[in-house]
Amino acid sequence: MKQENQIAPWLKPLWEGLDFANFPNAILLHGQSGIGKFAFSVKLAKALLCESSGATLKPCNQCEACHWFDTGNHPDFVALVPETHRKLLPHADYEGDELPKRGKARSEDDGETSEKKEKKNISIEETRHAIENLSIGSHRGGNRVILIYPLEMLRPDSANTLLKSLEEPPANTIFILLADRVDRVLPTIRSRCRLLTAPRPDREQGLIWLKAQLNQVSGLKASDADIETVYDEQGGAPFSVLDSLIARHNKDDKDELTISIQASRYLLQSMAQGVRINWLETAEKTHKAQYSFLLASMQRWISDLQSVSQGGNPRYYPKHLSTLQGLSKMVNAQKLLQFWKSLIQARRHENHPLANRIQLEALLSQYQQIFGA
Ligand SMILES: [Zn+2]
Repeated sequence: MKQENQIAPWLKPLWEGLDFANFPNAILLHGQSGIGKFAFSVKLAKALLCESSGATLKPCNQCEACHWFDTGNHPDFVALVPETHRKLLPHADYEGDELPKRGKARSEDDGETSEKKEKKNISIEETRHAIENLSIGSHRGGNRVILIYPLEMLRPDSANTLLKSLEEPPANTIFILLADRVDRVLPTIRSRCRLLTAPRPDREQGLIWLKAQLNQVSGLKASDADIETVYDEQGGAPFSVLDSLIARHNKDDKDELTISIQASRYLLQSMAQGVRINWLETAEKTHKAQYSFLLASMQRWISDLQSVSQGGNPRYYPKHLSTLQGLSKMVNAQKLLQFWKSLIQARRHENHPLANRIQLEALLSQYQQIFGA
């Protein structure tokens, strides 16, 4: 079953609240990255273009418009997305355009080249072209849908052009704008849209959905513990976890993720030792993993420790409740808070290529000191 044909269960209430008979000119759907906003919007675009008159549930998946949409050929659907996101659209209708660039694409591994960064941006020419074409009527005489994601990646001149269209909306044109960070969207654009907030699922619901998706990927084997580790690392964003695990399955970054999962588990076991942590050994055994992954694990552990020492429940590691309770009795609240601040500080520089091992040693020895007087 294709991902883009389903609405994730936690987004269903949002879907059911949509009024197709009275749809606004522009909606701005925002929420954490990786929770299914894009798939939601693609289905929404399809529903808005569906030409079935009888169907109460749109899209009908039967009419000509739905068929055109599924093959990526609907003339009134325009998606302004970076090159990196095009594969998520129904069939790659851009394939023809992409061919000449193929040769260059192979050298992507050389790091974050400017060309690669360029691919994360929405093309200025495409935006201009799409918006200029709005003055022409829609090809099929019905709605026209413009999907833009991520809205934050629209460059200022494109954003201004967009704003003009939002101020004087062309007939039968619906803008679906998507943002991970609504605070980075121009207030003038925001105020012209109906805002929709996409919620994040609770952990249990997210994991159930994720495991069901993974079951459909033939040959993919991941233990529940692995799945949960990646789930927590990615901030409870099930679509991101699905992508990571599928990428690992397709061998791209198998090793990196496996190393990070193992390291994160080792780190947790060490931190559970409290004052008896062997921080030198822990840093030695884990420093090859992705630094951001380790920092995220530490943050979650400390967040749970903080919550348990204030009589609350652990959010991330409920299985470790008794360990956390034991540790919380020995914790120096002030030092715990200082350590938390150090972690936040460290996360700001997590992609800095300094010696991770030394930083890890410093953090872990600071962790040891939060226990006892
Ligand atoms: Zn249809």
